[in-house]
Amino acid sequence: MNPRTAARQYARQASALARAEVFADAAETIVQQAWRAVLDAIAFAHPVVGHIATAKVHNALTDFPDQLIHFITGALFHTADWSHATAIGVVTAELRAVQEGKADMIPAPDPALVRQIVYRSGWSERLRAQTALGHPSRIAEKISRGIQAGKTHQEIAEDLLPIFDGIRSTARRVARDETMHTANAIQWQAWESLGELVYAYQVRAILDGGTRPEHRKRDKAVFYKEPKAGQNGLDDCPHPPRESEADGSVWAYGCRCWLVPLVKDNRRQPKAADVGGPSLDDRLMQAWWADADWRERRAAVGAERYGLVRRLKGRERPQWSDFFDAGRDRLKTPGEIRATLASLARAGIGS
Ligand SMILES: [Zn+2]
Repeated sequence: MNPRTAARQYARQASALARAEVFADAAETIVQQAWRAVLDAIAFAHPVVGHIATAKVHNALTDFPDQLIHFITGALFHTADWSHATAIGVVTAELRAVQEGKADMIPAPDPALVRQIVYRSGWSERLRAQTALGHPSRIAEKISRGIQAGKTHQEIAEDLLPIFDGIRSTARRVARDETMHTANAIQWQAWESLGELVYAYQVRAILDGGTRPEHRKRDKAVFYKEPKAGQNGLDDCPHPPRESEADGSVWAYGCRCWLVPLVKDNRRQPKAADVGGPSLDDRLMQAWWADADWRERRAAVGAERYGLVRRLKGRERPQWSDFFDAGRDRLKTPGEIRATLASLARAGIGS
């Protein structure tokens, strides 16, 4: 395990998660705009001018599913480019061949493969099917039935809200999980193109209240390309946010886990001890933290820890050292964060 590779990959994962969150927010905004247009239309829900309401709904919602799918598609192709570029950055320093100017040994992924990765799960069909539930004629029909039944505008809106809430949460989840899937699948292709230089992968987890118990348990597990007796092989290696092939490659929705490539040092054979020891280069993480934006910082330590430190420190900026226990080589638990900040406050350090 190279602690610098691990630190760069940790930082990259935080950036990927922050991107996914930005795309989820943007997808939600598109749904929100459609919902506002429907609310505007409901203002015309009246027995005499009810036809205006249905016409307005048609205008507002006809392009909505396409808009949403178009946005997410663009976000995923953009993520694919970003992912390839950053995958190289993670391992560059470890690969002497790359340092010697052979960076092109990681070829850009074939466009057909990128398309396959972006569309593989069938998310666009699923999203279209769900947004069709909010199809203009269905919505318009619900509004006119509401008018006939003498419902208030408020009541008509309340009838329609569950449909849009469902679309909103699906849009968020698709944007987020497909971004992470594309980011990680493209990165995997880049690493696999290095052949035997990458001899294993280690899986890591954020380890907070949102981590699945099984993902917590497997944190730091290593999966070898050529496993010896008692070692895990690649069949058992998860591909976050999907499970391993052995586990049917099923989706683990919202999974924030990541893989760290174990790069062969040309100068010596890998030892068992390489996968123990400190897993992160703390100074590299501190430098990254200083440059990262708040979304990346929050993604790196989990929203739970980040929110806690923000509350406890008030106006003072959270630091990487507030979250990471270098001695124990892991993120602090919320209890440890509270205890450290309380003792610093007692000693009059910080505020
Ligand atoms: Zn996970």
